[in-house]
Amino acid sequence: MKFLSTRNKDLKISAREAIVKGISEDGGLFVPESFPRFDIFENIELKYTDLAHKILSLYLTDFDEGDLKELIEKSYATFPEFVANVEYNSNEYLELYHGKTSAFKDFALCLLPNLLAYAKKSLGIEDKTLILTATSGDTGKAALEGFYNKENIDILVVYPTDGVSAVQKLQMDTTDSLNSKVIAIEGNFDDAQSSVKEIFNNPEIKKSLSDKNVYLSSANSINIGRLLPQIVYYFYAYADLYKNNKIQKDEKISFCVPTGNFGDILAGFYAKEMGLPVDKLIIASNSNNVLTDFFSTGVYNANRELEKTMSPSMDILISSNLERLLFHKSSDEVVVEKMNDLKTKGEFNSDIKFDEFLCGFANEEETSKTILKVYEEDKYLIDPHTAVAKFVADKCGVSNTVILSTASPYKFSSSVLSSLGEKLSEDEFDNIELLNEKTGVEIPKEIAKLRNKKLIHDTKIDKKDISKEVLNFSDRGTRISVPATSANLGPGFDALGLAVNLYNICEYKKTDEVEEYNKNIKENLIYKSYDYTFNYYGEKSVPIKIESKTDIPMSRGLGSSSTCVVMGILAAFHEIHKEIDRREILKIATEIEGHPDNVSPAIFGGFTSTVFEDNKIYLEEFKASDKIKFLALIPDSPLLTESARKVLPENYSRKDAVFNISRTSILPLALISGNYENLKIAFQDKIHESYRFKLIPEMDKIQAAIKESDAISHYLSGAGSTIMLVLKSDDFKTKEFLGEKLSKLDGDYKLIDLEIDYKGALII
Ligand SMILES: *Cc1c(COP(=O)(O)O)cnc(C)c1O
Repeated sequence: MKFLSTRNKDLKISAREAIVKGISEDGGLFVPESFPRFDIFENIELKYTDLAHKILSLYLTDFDEGDLKELIEKSYATFPEFVANVEYNSNEYLELYHGKTSAFKDFALCLLPNLLAYAKKSLGIEDKTLILTATSGDTGKAALEGFYNKENIDILVVYPTDGVSAVQKLQMDTTDSLNSKVIAIEGNFDDAQSSVKEIFNNPEIKKSLSDKNVYLSSANSINIGRLLPQIVYYFYAYADLYKNNKIQKDEKISFCVPTGNFGDILAGFYAKEMGLPVDKLIIASNSNNVLTDFFSTGVYNANRELEKTMSPSMDILISSNLERLLFHKSSDEVVVEKMNDLKTKGEFNSDIKFDEFLCGFANEEETSKTILKVYEEDKYLIDPHTAVAKFVADKCGVSNTVILSTASPYKFSSSVLSSLGEKLSEDEFDNIELLNEKTGVEIPKEIAKLRNKKLIHDTKIDKKDISKEVLNFSDRGTRISVPATSANLGPGFDALGLAVNLYNICEYKKTDEVEEYNKNIKENLIYKSYDYTFNYYGEKSVPIKIESKTDIPMSRGLGSSSTCVVMGILAAFHEIHKEIDRREILKIATEIEGHPDNVSPAIFGGFTSTVFEDNKIYLEEFKASDKIKFLALIPDSPLLTESARKVLPENYSRKDAVFNISRTSILPLALISGNYENLKIAFQDKIHESYRFKLIPEMDKIQAAIKESDAISHYLSGAGSTIMLVLKSDDFKTKEFLGEKLSKLDGDYKLIDLEIDYKGALII
């Protein structure tokens, strides 16, 4: 299968090339040269990923079949549920928002980055790709997740300060991948979009980027690799209806699609062209109803003010993917003419017939009323985008219509809540909770988690400064992130450890300031470990300058020094061009640190148990049940490892040894099963804790408070002074309860919610 440019049908390239290029040099978009037939009834029982594999391999013919299967499985591994076809009051809704960022865009944006990385690699392209994307909310976060720490691909997302919802903004600003940058631009979506377009069209910026082997690309839906994955759920939805006896064989159904950039509905058109029994495709718009006008009058007129609505992902005046439909319905010459008109006059006319399409729009009041009506009549909660589609579907009155539900209502909690006639709070998290209390609809996990997430991005600029930011970001140094660790876990003295989500993060570049570098080697553990690693391999170290930032408190038993050691070694591996071999890194780190119990989870992430003997390391990794979480209780006074070692006795009784053996053997198994009863005793220890607890002021009172709380268990983290509490994952009270108790003591104590980190050390 070849792909053609909509503005030049003689320009034919392969799928991999089309995905890497994104957009054709003539300004056109890539489209398949033909539509392969696909019989859904022959594939009716396939699970989602297998169906995706079958359909996509018809287009991505230059991908290895096995590789493509792997890419698809990997991409969709995080989807708890694909689509839910739900029926309310004889309306069928296709819920497409159960992916990671709670918008349908996850379907395409979790796959596109893997397709792109594969295409680049297999075509031997080593340049760095910089994804530059303007977003009205959903694309930004879905793209940030899709490109999360992808090798050799950086992503910069620009969103407008006006026009994204509070949840969308938080979702983006808390993204912690090392290859990302998020920028808020003063103004509305048009301002964000135009400033990004200017960068794409600025030859000077492109030149200075290409001098550094950096090439711009976009995550917007102009990339064919974003369009194709969306075809799959149209087939899947049909199969689901058929299997549930809601339709007969070959019976036609219609789809009503909330539409902005015309990508989603175009995928429906592709499905129809491939043979899916589709009657009508209904284009639903909000008050920015350029498409409604075009499909009913033949005049596309973008000369109007962009209105800010409660369905921001559809606040668009130029629907890029319409160009593809024009091409399929006419010719490249017609497209060139129309797009030229659009560019020069802001409008174009056409007399092309679009028989399979219907259209309509809902204004703000109609959208709001639809949310209320559907909730009151059907007890079904829909987001504003879906409400637009529902309103338009009702107006069109076509039987057998499936409404595409494109976002979770919780992404737009305040709009939805006020549509239901409820009073709003200033705080969006209160609104989320109010909506949950009123409706009982479950809050998506990732949205619930936002409350405790750290704000990472806070760049807010005027749009004239965007090019500076892009160039700065493209100049970034190498970044490393290493998680904090909690060792011993009670009885697993010097053997067990786990990684938690506090991080030591750095960015470094090569430097000419040799003197300063030599000084750093002597004084700073990161530099020391970096230099040590070069020496280990008999090489002379290359001077670098490191800027690091850490959340991990020092000398509190959370492995802060181990993170420095691991960081230095990783930087050295990178500079020596050695492949990142985690076991090798562990060996060097253990040499520097003396024992592996903190460094191994910092390198591998998750839980590790390690034995270090005769210069050889024996390691096992495991994952704990998600029925537990952790809470760190951090005293204001440090505990030095040295003094914590000194208080330990030389010898232990057989009774104590047996006590620890029994606890240590049940602990990993109980962590894996999440058995609360066993976890209660599994953290008990006779080797170090009782001696070390004496070194922590007020420990008796702290322990009394913990005993009164709902905590399952607790242990001394590393050599202290942090005390780690093990909580049930749905325990939201203990933190507050302990906070109250601790406030009455003399010392200052911090309580930090912690999750297990499974990523380990990363370098990007
Ligand atoms: C992006 C988006 C749309 C519009 O989809 P297009 O493919 O751009 O037409 C509709 N609803 C939601 C929630 C979206 O995020």
